[in-house]
Amino acid sequence: MGITLNVEKKGQWEQLLYSGPINEDTEVHLMPMIKGLGPNVIINFRKVDSVNSCGVRAWINFIREAEKGRKLIYEECTPEIVSQINMIPNFRGTAHIKSVYASFACDNCDHHCWVIYEEGRNMPASADAGVPTHKCEKCGNNMEMEEMEDEFFAWVDQAG
Ligand SMILES: [Zn+2]
Repeated sequence: MGITLNVEKKGQWEQLLYSGPINEDTEVHLMPMIKGLGPNVIINFRKVDSVNSCGVRAWINFIREAEKGRKLIYEECTPEIVSQINMIPNFRGTAHIKSVYASFACDNCDHHCWVIYEEGRNMPASADAGVPTHKCEKCGNNMEMEEMEDEFFAWVDQAG
């Protein structure tokens, strides 16, 4: 699968939808488009399917340039993106995080799903604030978040 970038105007903001892997080809795709971006950019991660270590380096280089004179927002960060943000603060840079997906598993029927947490709706105010339980759509059991909640939301306590 290749990388495709889609930029869409949304009022004062431009939304950059990144599809495909974040890997050694990422920089070649992203760097040439920085100059064309306006001052307010939302980066949507919903269609990122994997992240490798070359990709992390490429992403950090991109963000260092992209954040100069711009407001950046990250939205729909996948569980993998959230774990990069938690491990490597530079992956986020100065971007503000608006929504993330956490993955949940059901102990009872082995159903897996993603639950979205959005700022102003159900995002916890701090890493240890806790999140409401999520009921399995298949069997009604209480599902467990696959990561430790306080580790998954560790980034909430960092400025940004
Ligand atoms: Zn279940």
